[in-house]
Amino acid sequence: MASEFDLIARYFNRAAPAGLLGVGDDCALFPVPPGEQVATSTDLLLEGRHFFPDVDPRALGHKALAVNLSDLAAMGARPIGCVLGLALPRLDEAWLAAFAEGFHDLAAVHGCPLIGGDTTRSAHDLAISVTVFGAVAPGQALRRNGARPGDDVWVSGELGAADVAYRLLDGQYPADPALLSATREALEWPRPQVALGLALRGVAHAAIDVSDGLLQDLGHILAASGVGADLHYPQMPVAAALAGLDPARRRRAVLGGGDVYQLCFTAPASRREAVLAAAGEAGARATRIGRIRERAGLDVLDAQGRPLDALPAGFDHFPAA
Ligand code: ADP
Ligand code: MG
Repeated sequence: MASEFDLIARYFNRAAPAGLLGVGDDCALFPVPPGEQVATSTDLLLEGRHFFPDVDPRALGHKALAVNLSDLAAMGARPIGCVLGLALPRLDEAWLAAFAEGFHDLAAVHGCPLIGGDTTRSAHDLAISVTVFGAVAPGQALRRNGARPGDDVWVSGELGAADVAYRLLDGQYPADPALLSATREALEWPRPQVALGLALRGVAHAAIDVSDGLLQDLGHILAASGVGADLHYPQMPVAAALAGLDPARRRRAVLGGGDVYQLCFTAPASRREAVLAAAGEAGARATRIGRIRERAGLDVLDAQGRPLDALPAGFDHFPAA
């Protein structure tokens, strides 16, 4: 029977890059690049709430880190390293090996080594907590409060696929194997837009990553910036897999669907070329979907310029009664 320390050694202790002290001591140590600030963020993932109990553990390891890297991306911060807290209801080494592989593979892609953590037994469900550390120069972070009237609103990647995959797996939509196989990767293997976030420093005025739904997350930028926005529904980059979907479901997925992990950002209209160049450099797609206005509120306009009604709400863990 493997002990807690065997498990850590086997699955989580990877050689840290030169200059970092990784797993094995009371604390990890990493240098902060001279003149830069540390950007840090934590996300907690709970079985049954953030993932299905039978999800592929390699995908889960990937996603646990991806959702955190997405926060660094939205801030325009360069990853330094991460720590992992695990509460495990049972000891399943095949599961752990796959989880660790998914986690370490993504960490390697983004130069974000696992440098510490904590491992305990859980009386109930599986819980995963990841904290990331990144670096960004003072004044360069992409905050939520910088949007100004006249800015374009942009979104990276495509919208809607993760929401549809989630509702299929959750049984809210009738089984549709073809639709599930076309959307599942978006839900289970999100690709954090770290390179895009870095390339948007000095270009974007404000940014957020779309985790709870486009309208809700853009709403955070609007509130922090004291502005409003008009979006154009026909311009939305809808995932191709949603082409045959009922229009109301498609709209809910595009405007309200969570788990997207793309960036929504604003930039002055004079910087359109710079935004497209940043996206090109990052190998990302960027689509202009609307405009920031002075008047508070958020309207989504149809092809005739009429506001859509009954807009979807995003995800809220503690919705008001
Ligand atoms: P402590 O008793 O000081 O909390 P632990 O015995 O919990 O230390 O952990 C031993 C070492 O293993 C520490 O360096 C810790 O950061 C690391 N560690 C424990 N669990 C994990 C994990 N899930 N992922 C990465 N490192 C871990
Ligand atoms: Mg400990």
